[in-house]
Amino acid sequence: MSLDENLRAAAPILASLQEHGVHHHIGGKKVQSQDCASFESLSPVDGSTICKVSAGGRAEIDSASATAGQAFDKWSRLDGSARKTILHRIADLIVANADRIALLESWDTGQPIRFMSKAAVRGAENFRFFADRAPGARDGQSLPSPTLLNLTTRVPIGPIGVITPWNTPFMLSTWKIAPALAAGCTVVHKPAELAPLSAAVLVELCEEAGLPPGVLNVVHGTGHQAGVALTEHSDIRAIAFVGESATGSDIMRQGAATLKRVHFELGGKNPVLVFDDADLERALDAAIFMIFSLNGERCTSSSRLLVQESISQWFVDRLIERIRQIRIGHPLDPETEVGPLICEQHVDKVMSYIDLARKEGAEISVGGQRKAGNGCYVLPTLLTNATRHMRISREEIFGPVLTVISFSDEDEALAIANEVRYGLAGYIWTRDLSRALRVSDRLQAGMIWVNSENVRHLPTPFGGTKDSGIGRDGGDWSFEFYMEQKHIGLATGNHAIPKLGKVK
Ligand code: NAD
Repeated sequence: MSLDENLRAAAPILASLQEHGVHHHIGGKKVQSQDCASFESLSPVDGSTICKVSAGGRAEIDSASATAGQAFDKWSRLDGSARKTILHRIADLIVANADRIALLESWDTGQPIRFMSKAAVRGAENFRFFADRAPGARDGQSLPSPTLLNLTTRVPIGPIGVITPWNTPFMLSTWKIAPALAAGCTVVHKPAELAPLSAAVLVELCEEAGLPPGVLNVVHGTGHQAGVALTEHSDIRAIAFVGESATGSDIMRQGAATLKRVHFELGGKNPVLVFDDADLERALDAAIFMIFSLNGERCTSSSRLLVQESISQWFVDRLIERIRQIRIGHPLDPETEVGPLICEQHVDKVMSYIDLARKEGAEISVGGQRKAGNGCYVLPTLLTNATRHMRISREEIFGPVLTVISFSDEDEALAIANEVRYGLAGYIWTRDLSRALRVSDRLQAGMIWVNSENVRHLPTPFGGTKDSGIGRDGGDWSFEFYMEQKHIGLATGNHAIPKLGKVK
């Protein structure tokens, strides 16, 4: 589809949003906030108001949590194969609505449609993957002892709070909601206030697919109101959170009084290590893709390029050539590779790091400015001659900005790679298998790709170390979070029970 066709397809969706707004979804019904509070959702494309969104607080979180609590008993006891059927129907409906979801998401976030189309379909894959695992989610072990037949089983932990960010909101929310539902948990979802639109579509599709009302509830609002209330709520057993590391710390504090179990997917400053024996053309493609796709607003982006001195000039020259050709434009244009960032405040943050780069003495080899005209556009930017101690080399910028640092040998590469507070992902480029294994072992990151960009395979564990997260998603790891282990000991005979208080 061309830009014009996409704009025509988006027009009725946006008109309907303008007319009706977006509201909370509690117990199968759309509800406004008790005090009728709302906020405006703005498009990063041109700053226009997309629609009004209800702004929830403690009252709405109370209502949604109570509803999720009431729905839990029945949903958690439903046979796993029945949950599997419903989750597959949700996936079918997501696929049938993928174009609508992608258009909405692009307009709401500024992420190019070429990536959002794939992200919508990945949302469906998340549902299918966990649907197939629902029937076996409770499986346990038999651990016989001399006196007992010990059995283990797993039970869903209870109502879950899911809090998501704005960068790929639909896909990331399915990443949490699908395993929670498959495990038998009920959910209160608090979407990002900067990109709230697709959450309303997801809950509607879920209920159209047969998910009982109250199993998935959505409360919109800011982190400081709805988010805080959700993390403090005593009916909510656990919080699955994706967002900034600092917010993760806040949530831990907020959830301490009610002893919340937490699962955090947080920030990153992921290194890509390019050694001089690598397939340099492929390394170049991957490094560019991993920082400039999704506008660089991507937790696993390769935001730090660590390149061996002997090839550094060659690599930087090619980067400059390629980055200058990246197509910046309207996110609904299928040709666009980099779209507008989420909001003006985020543009200011990214631009402040570019100013800092100048002050710190790095060189701005490409970009370094806003794009002229309307919208939250920042040109794809390459910062060269950076050193490991500069803040641009250590802090998450979360935009289309690549920092290049050179290294002399393996030890120095690892020292630079590991000295930041984050530890989400790492990318290694070398043809030397021994080195690949050695460096993978020493690199402090939860996920490492060798001679590859980030290719997600759902059975593998996804998550970070250090300030990048707690816990893993994917495979059975998701169920470890959404479920509790239970032990049942059955006496196999009449073993001697100590007789306290019995007179001989
Ligand atoms: P953010 O932490 O500002 O907000 C995320 C969500 O938390 C929003 O819904 C927000 O309303 C809510 N929130 C904010 N303060 C809260 C509080 N005190 N209590 C409860 N909820 C609160 O993050 P963001 O700016 O939306 O997203 C960008 C960040 O997300 C980046 O750091 C990025 O690396 C990270 N991220 C990580 C992953 C991952 O898998 N590790 C994936 C995507 C994004």
